[in-house]
Amino acid sequence: MLDCAIIGAGPAGLTSLEYLARFHRRAVALGAGAPKPRLLFIDRTYNLPGYPEGVKGQVLLRRLRQQAEAMGGTVRASMAQRIEGANGDFTVHLQRGKPLQARKIILAMGVRDRRPDIPDIERHDGHFLRYCPVCDGFEHTGKRLGILGSGPSVARHALFLQTFSNHITIFLHGHSPDTLGRYRKTLAEKGIEVHAARVVKIIDGKREDAADPDSNYAGAGVCLEDGSEYPLSVLYGALGCDLRLEPVAHLGLKLDEDGYIITDVNQETSVPGMYAAGDLVSQINQISVAFGQATVAAVRIHNSLDDEE
Ligand SMILES: Cc1cc2nc3c(=O)[nH]c(=O)nc-3n(C[C@H](O)[C@H](O)[C@H](O)COP(=O)(O)OP(=O)(O)OC[C@H]3O[C@@H](n4cnc5c(N)ncnc54)[C@H](O)[C@@H]3O)c2cc1C
Repeated sequence: MLDCAIIGAGPAGLTSLEYLARFHRRAVALGAGAPKPRLLFIDRTYNLPGYPEGVKGQVLLRRLRQQAEAMGGTVRASMAQRIEGANGDFTVHLQRGKPLQARKIILAMGVRDRRPDIPDIERHDGHFLRYCPVCDGFEHTGKRLGILGSGPSVARHALFLQTFSNHITIFLHGHSPDTLGRYRKTLAEKGIEVHAARVVKIIDGKREDAADPDSNYAGAGVCLEDGSEYPLSVLYGALGCDLRLEPVAHLGLKLDEDGYIITDVNQETSVPGMYAAGDLVSQINQISVAFGQATVAAVRIHNSLDDEE
């Protein structure tokens, strides 16, 4: 029986694995490689404390895994399909192979970003198409920024983008400006342009001014269905994301109104003995937040196992 099965091997999963391994707990983190951890979409992050020169997502992921394994933690390239049982005796059914038994669980499966339906958009993912101005808006200060989405949420995102630039354009991608509701007036007052037509193409172009010279910014703007073109430094997607909750969908975990897992201050969910960390929990989807939540969960689990022994 494992002390803890960690579902996910991104920053949250690997951090909790490292801590538990350092407490000499038997812990396994599942999910290396597939589905693709969000870190692998990051060219280079510049806002992670301690890395003034930035760090590539791929490099960070490798180092987190190396560190957790060096302490004795195990990472397995297996997908969890369904989790059953209760505190002290959980069973994790895998897509392939024998189920795992574990006394505690940490959920760290992250989220899936919703991509806009624009032809060939995949190759722009994480480059020209971005999701997180909190992460990289600074690198695009003063540039032409586009934001794609609809409803009050895209309006709020556009207003936040003004932190970085005065050249903001909203692309409603086929939705009516009426979806912006009371924000329409504010956006007009702030000089934020709004276009309702669908985006049908990303204009190709190798950017000379890319924040990271290693990155392949193969995008220079968007073309709308009416033929108009808009040069942009980046296009932010504001379509939201889906939580990877499949293995626990049947458990009735308490979620907030946006669908994120509610935990207590120790990261324990509404199911006793089941903890959650990272993008599944907080709407501030940040690596440093994932580190912190994973640390709290691991320490709490270690102490509670001690109490139960
Ligand atoms: C383009 C982009 C740029 C970003 N830039 C920054 C930045 O500059 N700074 C910053 O702080 N944050 C940034 N972020 C956000 C950051 O990547 C996330 O906050 C962070 O990766 C969350 O970590 P996580 O461990 O919760 O999830 P993830 O990193 O997504 O890891 C999830 C893990 O769960 C596994 N998994 C999923 N389902 C299962 C299953 N059923 N069974 C087993 N395993 C499973 C996956 O394989 C993966 O290993 C960016 C995100 C994107 C998309």
